[in-house]
Amino acid sequence: MKFTKILALVLAVVMCFGILAACGTKPAEDPANDANETADAPANDAKVFKMGTNAAFPPYEYKEGEEFVGIDVEIATAIAEKLGGTLEVVDMEFDSIITAVNQGEVDFGMAGMTVTDERLLEVNFSSSYATGVQSVIVAEGSEIASLDDLAGKKIGVQLGTTGDIYATDDYGAEFVTQYGKGADAVIALKGGDVDAVIIDNEPAKAFVAENEGLTILDTDYAVEDYAIAVKKDNTDLLDDINAALEALTADGTIDSIIAKYIKAE
Ligand code: GLN
Repeated sequence: MKFTKILALVLAVVMCFGILAACGTKPAEDPANDANETADAPANDAKVFKMGTNAAFPPYEYKEGEEFVGIDVEIATAIAEKLGGTLEVVDMEFDSIITAVNQGEVDFGMAGMTVTDERLLEVNFSSSYATGVQSVIVAEGSEIASLDDLAGKKIGVQLGTTGDIYATDDYGAEFVTQYGKGADAVIALKGGDVDAVIIDNEPAKAFVAENEGLTILDTDYAVEDYAIAVKKDNTDLLDDINAALEALTADGTIDSIIAKYIKAE
């Protein structure tokens, strides 16, 4: 009798330890418990969200000294904070951003990037946070005064952008010269290597303000929606970004960031 009592006690103790051990190790053994980890993560564990961009596209992303600034950088910082993390900007060619997103080198791409049907085959896009318009920059006094006048002229664009795609479709690849950066296309225009540059309206205004002797044609070539590109299977992040964008729109953060960089005319 005594022996069975001792045995029962030993068994009970062993079971208790078993349960304690199981409870104690559960979180570590359960990698699916991501949601808890994010919610309870201490600040130094906060996720670093990597944003792939091309920081030569003022006022959306550009460098002030060593610092990345601009509308996209500030909106992305606000999104990262809303999601309990911080932002790291990864600067690259515009043309490489979607590949970097899909290879997981960055968490998302944000670069005044237009939502297009072709890009939607490769990535998902968040809700749109801004609108862009393709614009035409020419030298002051140029004989090019309308879109029709561009036929047969040399057009400079930024490689892989919608300006590049439209110019190639509408005027022919032989008339289009692709530059890695919009600023380089503008330098080519100043030097007379091209007759016009097709680029988004806000960067166009910034480039014209920085360079004497250039002007923007009074024509809206194409109106576009800017959104954030996320890898197709990363729907959790897409949902989180959309929720953050919604909150930041509702509380006026997005409007005030845009107003800081784009002065009403
Ligand atoms: N909005 C244009 C596009 O998506 C240009 C973007 C850019 O040059 N950063 O192609």
